[in-house]
Amino acid sequence: MKLRDVKTTWFLLKYSVVKRSAIPYFKEVLRNQYLSGDEIEALNWRRTRELLEYANQHVSFYRERFKAMGLNPSEIVRPEHYSQVPVLTRDDLRVHFDKMVSDEARPADLRISTTGGSTGKPVKVYHQKKVVRAAMPWRMLNWWGLAPDVNVASVYRIINEDWKSNLLNNLFWWPTKRILLDAASVDDKSIAEFLRKFRLIRPELVHGYVGAVDYLATYILDRKIALPSPKAIWVTSSPVTATQEVRIHEAFGAPVYDQYGGCEVYWLAAQCPKKEGLHMFHDVRRIEFLSKDNAPVTAGELGRIAITDLENKYFPLIRYLNGDEGRALPKNCSCGVNLPLMDKVRGRISDTIKLPNGAVVGGDYLTTIFDSVPDAVCQFQVHQHKDYSIDIVVVPNTTYANYEKVLENIRANLSTQFRNAVPVSIKQVAEIPHQSGKLRFVKSDL
Ligand SMILES: [Zn+2]
Repeated sequence: MKLRDVKTTWFLLKYSVVKRSAIPYFKEVLRNQYLSGDEIEALNWRRTRELLEYANQHVSFYRERFKAMGLNPSEIVRPEHYSQVPVLTRDDLRVHFDKMVSDEARPADLRISTTGGSTGKPVKVYHQKKVVRAAMPWRMLNWWGLAPDVNVASVYRIINEDWKSNLLNNLFWWPTKRILLDAASVDDKSIAEFLRKFRLIRPELVHGYVGAVDYLATYILDRKIALPSPKAIWVTSSPVTATQEVRIHEAFGAPVYDQYGGCEVYWLAAQCPKKEGLHMFHDVRRIEFLSKDNAPVTAGELGRIAITDLENKYFPLIRYLNGDEGRALPKNCSCGVNLPLMDKVRGRISDTIKLPNGAVVGGDYLTTIFDSVPDAVCQFQVHQHKDYSIDIVVVPNTTYANYEKVLENIRANLSTQFRNAVPVSIKQVAEIPHQSGKLRFVKSDL
């Protein structure tokens, strides 16, 4: 047995101690992708119907909504009936949050997740802890020729600042090595330190916000820095453009793969090495592309994305409109994986904020500033003017206790984040206008 296999086996065994079902589930999803297209759809549809029935029985929000519209979930027999099921909006999530939890869920079964999302309207959802979330990224890494325990260099936000859990986390991940460049604050010093560690751990995988990874790639190319090549670059949070892809590939000497997901539902789709589209994780998510009246558009046409998460029973998201637009690609991928394809999403754009000293703050990170208090605002936008000054434009939730104080805290934190180098103000408004249908929630005039 090769050393590589020993390391991976050890990693998976350790993981199984925490989640006993991890390895069988990973094997199951690896098998699913090679079922025929019809078999995958049949599996998806069976799970979709089970979730509908479950939501009707155990979740008061759905039971009341279905009853009010005279909808009997057991009559939703075929996929073409599914458009009778009402869509779920971000406003629904905000208003009905407490009634969306299953009566079977105990608080210990749930983990909260919050997001600014792609529309600047913060929401929160619960995830079901016992779901083996890692199976989806493991399958994706498998496409790219990588084992679950590869060394990773991340350009991302700090998920956990508590040193104790960081220590435990490091012990848990050992012997896998992971390094992080905090996308919230990127400057020459932090990049130099990150690249020093990069040479030491020789990561096989680089992962991060596309804007921040691209910034790093430009830095590397400008200075002609040579690095040990990873095997794959995994970018997320907004679709990678063709120019960004070329630049990132050149800087790191490895292929760039797009992955699509969100904090409400983590794993939705990802590219395989053939890059003929993004494979939708159709065995565990039902992703639809809908017209304005919530009927499916013709395959290949652009529509509003609606997600049904087939793994999360305790806080069901059924036909959830996440604010993105996209389209299915009506063809099969030549890689042999039969999970259906979608095109890159539309509607997620964020600028980078620049400080007078040349440092930058990643726009993708800024979408998370209200994550700790998602109920305090109905919508927000970060706007940098030509003189570097920054407005946090918000539609406040005036029914939220002490909302003015909460907003002031966010302002003060952001000002510290920008090292007090630029003035940061809160601007309360009744409405944030869209520009050509899209809200740029991090906007820079510089
Ligand atoms: Zn493929």
